[in-house]
Amino acid sequence: MKIVTVVGARPQFIKAAAGSRQLRKEHREILVHTGQHFDDNMSAVFFREMGIPAPDYNLGIAGGTHAQMTGKMLVEIERVLEAELPDALLVYGDTNSTLAGALAAVKLRIPVFHVEAGNRLGTIDNPEEVNRTLTDHCSTLLFCATEDARQKLEREGLGEKAYCVGNIMYDSFLHFAGQPWNKGNILDFGGAVVELPESFYYMTCHRQENTYSDEPLTEILSAMNSLDAPTIYPVHPRNHERALRVCQNRGFKNIILTQPVGYSDSVHLTQTALKIVTDSGGLQCEAFYAGVQCVFVFDHVAWPETMVGNRNQLARAKREDILKKLSAKQEIDPDYKPFGDGHAAETICGIIRNWEKES
Ligand code: UDP
Repeated sequence: MKIVTVVGARPQFIKAAAGSRQLRKEHREILVHTGQHFDDNMSAVFFREMGIPAPDYNLGIAGGTHAQMTGKMLVEIERVLEAELPDALLVYGDTNSTLAGALAAVKLRIPVFHVEAGNRLGTIDNPEEVNRTLTDHCSTLLFCATEDARQKLEREGLGEKAYCVGNIMYDSFLHFAGQPWNKGNILDFGGAVVELPESFYYMTCHRQENTYSDEPLTEILSAMNSLDAPTIYPVHPRNHERALRVCQNRGFKNIILTQPVGYSDSVHLTQTALKIVTDSGGLQCEAFYAGVQCVFVFDHVAWPETMVGNRNQLARAKREDILKKLSAKQEIDPDYKPFGDGHAAETICGIIRNWEKES
């Protein structure tokens, strides 16, 4: 088959690294990069380091409102689909690129495969929830990372198209977790290599809900600044200016701000950290894989299967709540593995193969 895959943002590159490798063993893949993330350290580094094939199309669409971005993508992806006439389109996760790809394809009657289907926060106030829900409802095959996600799709009447395949990010995590760590690639905002302390906390924060004003980020950073070891915080471009200003104005000396890091660095920071504080969907799962305790700063549970034995706890963006959750002790049941076996990409390709035979 000829399959067009649409990616655009950091977590999608990480998923595509495992997905493309497997897909290309059996199919002709045309890779479309919408351009949603474009900085070297948010995009190109992942293609280099993770061996993702170069995109066949780079649409160069970034910035603007959600509607502007999604609308431009819709027009450009439709052009690609009309030129390539693929048998299917594959999208990952829940960004504007995911939704634009799915909408463009379904209107041309091209089957849509959605990887990481069925995740729900339970509120459409979250922009990613809108993207993932609409994408699920116009897809032909739905690949869920967990049984919980599959059941959610069943409740929405989509059970017949849904398969629990494991988390494709776990495939990528396992691949990099076993490799040696070259620590020389983490840079501060002056471009100098960051000397990592012996022990540290790892933090990321970039969601709209935590970066719309100074307040949530100040609360989170104030909690981290008071801990017994420094915090490594690679700053997403969305709140670069804010993070630098808040740390400077508040004199937060126990926080080490860095440029966004590559995937290998992120995996190794995760494995080495004392604990992790994040609002990232992907990073909280990686903390879980690594057995490192995590606090998820958000109003809704994203990955319910991680919320066991204090392994991952929800905290409001309030200093005291974050500190309270960080002080809890985690308990790990080594037999509990809700994210599959690290071979999600192979399972997905097997299901696509069967679908192709039957259709
Ligand atoms: N990550 C990375 N470099 C960083 C911060 C995060 O490679 O500087 C990785 C992290 O390990 C995880 C993914 O990016 O795999 C999460 O992406 P992001 O937080 O942008 O999106 P979300 O998980 O919220 O969808």
